[in-house]
Amino acid sequence: MNDVIQNELSLLNEAEEKPRQTKILYIEDNLANQKLVERVLSRHNYDLSIASDGVTGINMAMEQEVDLILMDINLPDMDGKDITAFLKSKPKHAKTPIIALTADASAANRDRSLAVGCDGFITKPIDIASFPNQVAEYLGGQKDELALEDQKETLKTYVGELVGNLEAKVKELEMANQKLKKLDSAKSDFIQLVSHELRTPLTILNGYYMLMSNMKLLDPDEQKKITDISAGFGKGITRLSDVIQDVLSVSKITASSLSLSKGPIRLADSITQVVRGIEKSIIQRNISIAVEDLTHLPIIQADGKQLSLAFKNIIGNSVKYTPDGGSIRIYPLTMKGTLTIAFQDRGLGVPLNEQHAIFEPFYRLENIDNHSTSKTQFLGGGLGLGLPIAKGIIEAHNGRIWVESPGRDENNLPGSTFFVLLPTG
Ligand code: ADP
Repeated sequence: MNDVIQNELSLLNEAEEKPRQTKILYIEDNLANQKLVERVLSRHNYDLSIASDGVTGINMAMEQEVDLILMDINLPDMDGKDITAFLKSKPKHAKTPIIALTADASAANRDRSLAVGCDGFITKPIDIASFPNQVAEYLGGQKDELALEDQKETLKTYVGELVGNLEAKVKELEMANQKLKKLDSAKSDFIQLVSHELRTPLTILNGYYMLMSNMKLLDPDEQKKITDISAGFGKGITRLSDVIQDVLSVSKITASSLSLSKGPIRLADSITQVVRGIEKSIIQRNISIAVEDLTHLPIIQADGKQLSLAFKNIIGNSVKYTPDGGSIRIYPLTMKGTLTIAFQDRGLGVPLNEQHAIFEPFYRLENIDNHSTSKTQFLGGGLGLGLPIAKGIIEAHNGRIWVESPGRDENNLPGSTFFVLLPTG
């Protein structure tokens, strides 16, 4: 007999021998109650899973196969009745028995639990002796009924309460949102202030650097020393001033106060210039950048300095997130009334669910512990400002920027393509 068929048959036999265990989901925050139910049901052939809060419970109920749900009505994050109403509205659980487990034995609580869709009502503490039988009966199809009239009345009150709860939650969220906005604005003010404050000593340092780099010494050895020191000094000053500039640019962009000084711009020139600026580092890292013919693109009215900064950030990222020896391609796509430039790399790629977030200020995918300060090394550091700055600049030109990538994969390097669309009119 064919191996595959034999395998299938033995799997079928196994399945026949071992009936699938009945799966019970218990949504309960109280550890003692969890343990008790676990212990009481452990002698029966159930596969019990436990969720300690409402949201986890909903996720587990939606993701797993479940034959019966035991629902604590008083959960800290959500009301068990609301969860029941939600689950019963889903085809997956329309017929799953949901049993309320509650310490509130009042008739009103029972009616309300049954009205929203619970199939049974058990009071806590559970009766150890009868609990397994109760569960078995509900699994067998037993249903605690509520008279239709009572159900209507109870549902009316429940809906009223639900709307009241929702209103309260919306108010809570609004307040939390206002608080966050205030904090966010305080953080932005602080970042801007610190950047301005850092500029002052930087100007002083820059003055000394100028003095030092223009010093002429008689002794050639001393002259070489001073030239080398001032070159290192200059490099540090440029890097620091770039960081400060990035932070100030992003604060301006997020405050929508970026002012453009427009003139006729040939994109071919801006992009070639940016690529030339990083030539040394791409040679060092053995990365090739192929810029396809952009000379036929129409001249556009734009702020050349700002656009170059946007391209510098995008191309810089293509280099940073591509391992040594990789390749980058820059090519145009023309469509009526707009022009689009694609920056394609063969690097790490961007996870599908992060493709919007990476354009948010200070958002970085890399672990901060591995942060390095180089702008061009593989995975070289950044403040998570490059893309928001590029986005702000492009949007200020009424353009659009987005990324397409199959996802992030450090081994297979699926790459990413960043598209920049600019209006030509
Ligand atoms: P950073 O200064 O950290 O590079 P950016 O705002 O420029 O910040 O980018 C945000 C995040 O987007 C980066 O931390 C990186 O994870 C991801 N990213 C940007 N460009 C690329 C790219 N070409 N390939 C893969 N990931 C990228």
